[in-house]
Amino acid sequence: MTRPPDHGGLSPTNPRGQTGWIEVISGSMFSGKTEELIRRLRRAQIARQSVAIFKPRLEDRYSESDIVSHSQLRIPSTPVGSPDEILQHADEADVIGIDEAQFFQQEIVDVARELANRGKRVVVAGLDKDFRGEPFGAMPELMAEAEYVTKTLAICMQCGEPANFTQRLTSDERRILIGETDLYEARCRRCYEPPVEKGNHFKDPT
Ligand code: ZN
Repeated sequence: MTRPPDHGGLSPTNPRGQTGWIEVISGSMFSGKTEELIRRLRRAQIARQSVAIFKPRLEDRYSESDIVSHSQLRIPSTPVGSPDEILQHADEADVIGIDEAQFFQQEIVDVARELANRGKRVVVAGLDKDFRGEPFGAMPELMAEAEYVTKTLAICMQCGEPANFTQRLTSDERRILIGETDLYEARCRRCYEPPVEKGNHFKDPT
C-alpha cells in the first residue's frame, strides 16, 4: 500500500506533524455502536478538541442532521453523499466521527486513511455484517486499516447469550431497510438463522 509522501511528517496538510489514527467500533444492530461513538466524541469535546461528525445521507431515521442512538443520545452531524465530502469538511477538526460507515462507498477507506495521515483522530462506527451474515461494505478494510478495533456485542433476543448477528424478521431481500426495531433482532451464533436462499451448508439438515 502506498502512502502519501506527507505521512507522519510536517506538510501543508499536517502542519504540526501530529500522528493520527483510526478507531473502528463495529458489531451487530442493538450492540451500542452509536452510543460508544457518541461517548468518545463527547469526551473529545469536553477536552475542547474540535470535533466534526458525518453520516451517509441516506441514513435519515430519527433525525435529519443529528446522530441519535437508540437510547436517544444525540450529537449534531453533517449528512454527506460521498466520502470525498468528508475530506472537504474535515479540515478544521481534530477528531472526525463517522457513523453508519457500512453504507459508504469503498472510498471511505482512502478517506479515513488520508485523514489519519493528516494527523487526525478518526472514529468510525458501523455494522460489521449484513443480515445475511456477510461482511458489510468497506467495514472489513476499515478494520484492517485501523489502529484500534472495538467489537460491540448485543444480547441475543432469543436466549440472552452474547449476540454478534443481526436477524432480519422479514423476507424482504433488499440490503438496506430503515426502520429497524420491528424488522431486526440481535441474535447469537446459535439462534441466528441465515436467509434460506443461501442456506447454511454446514448445519445438520434435521
Ligand atoms: Zn441466542
